[in-house]
Amino acid sequence: IVEARGIHKHFGALHVLKGVDLAVHERELVFVIGPSGSGKSTLLRCLNRLEEPSGGAITVDGIDILDRRTDINKARQRIGMVFQAFNLYPHMTALGNVALALRKVQGLPRAMAEDKARRALERVHLADRAGHYPGQLSGGQQQRVAIARAIALEPRVMLFDEPTSALDPELVGGVLAAMRELRESGMTMVVVSHEMGFARAAADRVVFMDGGRIVEEGQPEAIFGNPQQERTRAFIGQIS
Ligand code: ATP
Ligand code: MG
Repeated sequence: IVEARGIHKHFGALHVLKGVDLAVHERELVFVIGPSGSGKSTLLRCLNRLEEPSGGAITVDGIDILDRRTDINKARQRIGMVFQAFNLYPHMTALGNVALALRKVQGLPRAMAEDKARRALERVHLADRAGHYPGQLSGGQQQRVAIARAIALEPRVMLFDEPTSALDPELVGGVLAAMRELRESGMTMVVVSHEMGFARAAADRVVFMDGGRIVEEGQPEAIFGNPQQERTRAFIGQIS
């Protein structure tokens, strides 16, 4: 459903992605790991063209994302993204935040948007917090609102960039549980994270990046238990 080929990205003289090929199949959860600066976030951002790749080709759900003629805003509706920072509007309730996305992006009237927003909040077990403002929610709950906001738009694929790294340890579990349920509901997901336990339990495939390249990929047991490349071994050794 996501097909990226030969992706290059330069920031001025800095060559950050050096020909990355990544195919993500329907209902697959691909987990991306790698040292800081290896290009994980840049790769995710290229997939919905938040960054413009310097070269390569990307299709999502059959749509050529890099084609000038593609309506990128429309294409982005198929690609949900959740970041480390939740970016909720502080003056709007949880329900208001989710409903706003639906009204803006899908042009739904308020009542319909709120109805849909409520169902999205139910999916992350926050129906009872719909009327709370972000400041009245824990970091984990805020992140789940951000996930609800993304899934309310019914994307074909969800991209997560370190969704739990800004959270206190005791709040991580709830967000990972929400992601796990989303995965079980059949969502296609690409997750950048340091939560190796989650990767072992939920990932179909783990991709190890270093220096702007995919060095190794495989099933979690293989990558964590028996990495083939020296650089992968060194990285796994450091983190575990
Ligand atoms: P981390 O684990 O720390 O989040 P990462 O693997 O996500 O790292 P990226 O954020 O993709 O790494 O960054 C890869 C390289 O690109 C880094 O050297 C970074 O400094 C550089 N970089 C990223 N964004 C920009 C930008 N907008 N302008 C210039 N350089 C950038
Ligand atoms: Mg990053």
